[in-house]
This record gives sequence, C-alpha cells and structure tokens, in this order.
Amino acid sequence: MKSLPYFCRGAVVRGFGRGSKELGIPTANFPESVVDNLPSDMKTGIYYGWACVGNSDVHRMVMSIGWNPFYKNTKKSMETHIIHKYKEDFYGETLSIAILGYIRPETSFNSLDALIKAIHNDIEEARKQLDLPEHQKFKDDDFFKTSKKEIMNGH
Ligand code: ADP
Ligand code: MG
Repeated sequence: MKSLPYFCRGAVVRGFGRGSKELGIPTANFPESVVDNLPSDMKTGIYYGWACVGNSDVHRMVMSIGWNPFYKNTKKSMETHIIHKYKEDFYGETLSIAILGYIRPETSFNSLDALIKAIHNDIEEARKQLDLPEHQKFKDDDFFKTSKKEIMNGH
C-alpha cells in the first residue's frame, strides 16, 4: 500500500459499545473527521503500528479499518487496540498513531472464541513485525514528539 507508513491523530470518541473491553481487547475509536481523511488505497482489514495517548509513551498497536455499523456500513471506522495496560480510560484524549503494515483482511468469525483467537494472533504478528529495526525506528519518529510539544504548549 503506497500510503504506508500513515500518520494521524485525533480525539478518542465513544465507539459502538460492542463490548470490546469485556473481551479484554478495548479499541479506541477515532472521530469521523480522522476516518474521512484516510487515503483511498487503505483497504479494510487489520494493521499494525505505533500509538501514543496524549504525551505518554509510544506503544505497539493493532488497528482495524472496518465498516461502521452506525452508518449502515457506508462509512469506515478506525479502532485501535494499544498493546499496553492502561489504568484508566482515555476518552477525549489525543491518540496519535503510525500505521506501518497490513496483517489481514476483515473476516467474519463463526464464534466469539474464533474472533478472540484471531485477534491474539494479530497481536502476536504485530509484536514480531514491530521488533524489526525498520519498524522500531518509527517509535522515535518526530511525529510523536510534535504531539508532546503541542500538548505541553496547550495547542
Ligand atoms: P467503545 O465502544 O467506547 O470504543 P471499548 O470497549 O472498545 O469501548 O473500549 C475502548 C476504550 O477503552 C478506549 O476509548 C479507551 O478509553 C479505553 N482503553 C483502555 N485501555 C485501552 C487499550 N489498551 N487500547 C485501547 N483503548 C483502551
Ligand atoms: Mg471501541
């Protein structure tokens, strides 16, 4: 995909309440404005990359670009699961992400167990990919530092 790596940020909004958190896999949702800016060659499916909430540390993430049930699947949605344990929710905070690679297309699963298993595989794949030097370097990208500066200056 020629648009990768792709960098973006936005405030975390409430999702569809599909209970991702109850499955142990919370997904932070981006607002429509961020989704609307996605390059058209970025197909739906599961991606890996780096994520940073507010001015805190940069962590690994897996992200799904999917069809938004709220708009009867006519609009896309972007949901990021950060591979890190947060003590609290961070609705309203700025989430900055660098999307680096594609893992697999969207699929429907026969059972919840199969879905959870697939997501755990995605997380495993993301860890492996993000350990590679060519992906590690983006963790220190100026994009994440800019976000810190802006937040500290109150912009
Ligand atoms: P919603 O339907 O509102 O998106 P989720 O069950 O998907 O609800 O939970 C997402 C929320 O959980 C995020 O908006 C964020 O505030 C919080 N959260 C806590 N830990 C994480 C994490 N590791 N990755 C993503 N979101 C997290
Ligand atoms: Mg969610």
